[in-house]
Amino acid sequence: MAPANAAPTIEINGISKSFGSFKVLDELSFKVAPREKLALIGPSGSGKTTILRILMTLEGIDSGDILIEGDNLYRMPANGGLRPANEQHLHKMRTKIGMVFQLFNLFPHKSVIDNVTLAPMLTKGVRQAEAERHAMELLEMVGLADKAKAMPAQLSGGQKQRVAIARALALSPKIMLFDEVTSALDPELVEEVLNVLWRLCAETDMTMLLVTHEMGFAHDFADRILFFDRGRIVEEGKPEEIFRHPKQERTQTFLKKII
Ligand code: ADP
Repeated sequence: MAPANAAPTIEINGISKSFGSFKVLDELSFKVAPREKLALIGPSGSGKTTILRILMTLEGIDSGDILIEGDNLYRMPANGGLRPANEQHLHKMRTKIGMVFQLFNLFPHKSVIDNVTLAPMLTKGVRQAEAERHAMELLEMVGLADKAKAMPAQLSGGQKQRVAIARALALSPKIMLFDEVTSALDPELVEEVLNVLWRLCAETDMTMLLVTHEMGFAHDFADRILFFDRGRIVEEGKPEEIFRHPKQERTQTFLKKII
């Protein structure tokens, strides 16, 4: 549970983002406390993935600002548009945040352990022996130590996703972003991935943002739920409040359809 009154780990202040003439995010603001587990729910196309991609600096923003542990993620360059200030700054900010995608995105020609060791060796200069030791710990945690030498093609979807989680953890991020990490999986594989998220939740201090359609999981996992529609937060609250007593009609309609 997040400590009360702590300085926020993430502070999003009035960000807007358009793709062409389509405004995906409209003056969006919210804060995430240290160690908080936040679930972002809402209809498809409401901008949830875009928020995670912006936090990961995979997309820029048009206006507003984002502070990560008090440090500005985006700075206004002379030529307009908000982009990460420079490579060095980008590198520093990126090591704070890890992301797991819907479609695993493992390197297909690298073994499981090489998938996990690559980023720490390349971006942090960690030596191979140390990177492998840490990778084995992480693979142990996701229950795949015995698959270290396997290639991604030899793994099930659930196993690939667990490797992707280990890979994101290899840089020891303070913040983890999970984007629909179970939605590409066969139903019988969903649970093994959710179990890993449970372990992370119970055993680490990371701040976690989860975009999901697994409402049961969001209910149990999250300290707080944000319900989005059309790039805005329609309603937010504790899982009990949002799922049992949603105040807004839009939230009620969405939950009736999905649960
Ligand atoms: P959600 O995660 O809530 O389903 P997204 O953030 O993926 O929503 O998408 C919000 C809207 O932005 C959608 O209409 C989507 O088609 C559009 N969108 C997302 N990324 C791009 C992009 N790179 N170019 C153009 N449109 C995009």
